[in-house]
Parts: sequence; structure tokens; C-alpha cells
Amino acid sequence: MPRPIDLTTGRGKQRPYRSIVSAMVADNAGKTLQRAVFLDRDGVINVEKGYLHRIEDFEFLPGVPLALRLLKEAGFLLVVVTNQSGVARGYYSLETVHELHRHLQSELVVAGVTIDGFYICPHHPEHGSADSAGECNCRKPLPGMIERAISDFRIDPTRSYLIGDKLSDIEAGRAAGCRSLLVRTGYGAAVVQSVPQDVTIVDDLPAAARFILGEEIS
Ligand SMILES: [Mg+2]
Ligand SMILES: [Zn+2]
Repeated sequence: MPRPIDLTTGRGKQRPYRSIVSAMVADNAGKTLQRAVFLDRDGVINVEKGYLHRIEDFEFLPGVPLALRLLKEAGFLLVVVTNQSGVARGYYSLETVHELHRHLQSELVVAGVTIDGFYICPHHPEHGSADSAGECNCRKPLPGMIERAISDFRIDPTRSYLIGDKLSDIEAGRAAGCRSLLVRTGYGAAVVQSVPQDVTIVDDLPAAARFILGEEIS
């Protein structure tokens, strides 16, 4: 029997900060499909600090709230997809991750934007106990979190983007059928040389947003 996917999307009462979905587009068949920008968290939205879990250590990278707002206003859902093996490793709890995301969300609300969904992989193949142990379908580079969001929100992956700072982010985005962009923030500068040639490389999330919005116009 396949292992069930546990993406801890926390729908319902666990996620009071989950926002209402508004952006809708129609595909060729007239079905309503949405577009999304899938976002890695650490090194893309906030400064990469290594197993970040304390709210006082959370720090947006420059220009991120405004960039997210512009993407949202252009009709993209904003979906965070984050590996958090610190849970499996026992460094912090899943609830701590949720708390950090509530903080992130409340900071964004001030800037006039909200994240539509947070998808967390708390697993690690060699660490953990109970529900966070062992192999899973969601740890990037696997596309499980993205695929779950595609299903939850009825997203068209071919008209969606992923923004990440690691090869594993890029691979997950490609596996899900999304156009993937590597930022130089976080671990990005160190992996620029090793990404496939067709991957778009940009300085940071604001530059990624300009690239995506530029494609919309042209
Ligand atoms: Mg990252
Ligand atoms: Zn997982």
C-alpha cells in the first residue's frame, strides 16, 4: 500500500490564516483553472538561517512583500512549499512551523497581501518518529506538495511558476510541470552553475516577479 501523503496543509481550524481564494482564470475548455506562483520559503521569501523556527529570527528578504502583492494582483495564487526536516530531526515541532507561518502571514497582511496556502514536508528519510519518519512523497525534489496544491486549488501547472533557491526546488517545480526560476538569494548563488540551461536565473524574488509579470505583458 502506498504511504499516504501527509502534507500537513492544516486546512480548517488549524489554519485560521489561510486566505480566501480569489484569482480565477479559464482554460481552453472553459473549465476554471487557477494560476499560481509556488514559493520556496527559506532563502526566497526570508533570509536563510538554517532550520529557522524562531519568530524573532524571521527576516524578509528585501522587496519581498511588495513583489508578492504585485504577483497576487496579477491573478496568481501564492503557495508556499517548504521542506522542514527540522521537524523530523526533532529541532522544532510542526506547531512551531505553523506559528512561524502565522507570523509571516500577519506581516504580509500589513503589506496588503496574503499567502493562499502553506504546504510543509516535515519528513526526512533518515530521521524522525511517528508521523514525520521515513520516506515520503512530498519532500522536494519530489513534487508532492505542489501536486497536492494543484489538486486543492484547481491550478493549471503549465501556466504557473515555481521560485526556489535550490536545485531540489527547481526539480520539484519541473516535475510538477511548472516553469521554474532560480533566485541567487539563499543557496541560489552557490548552485547557479549546476542548474539546467533552460532554467531562468534571477537575482531575487522581486526580480522573479518582474520576469513573470513581464511575460504576462509581452
Ligand atoms: Mg530554500
Ligand atoms: Zn514529506
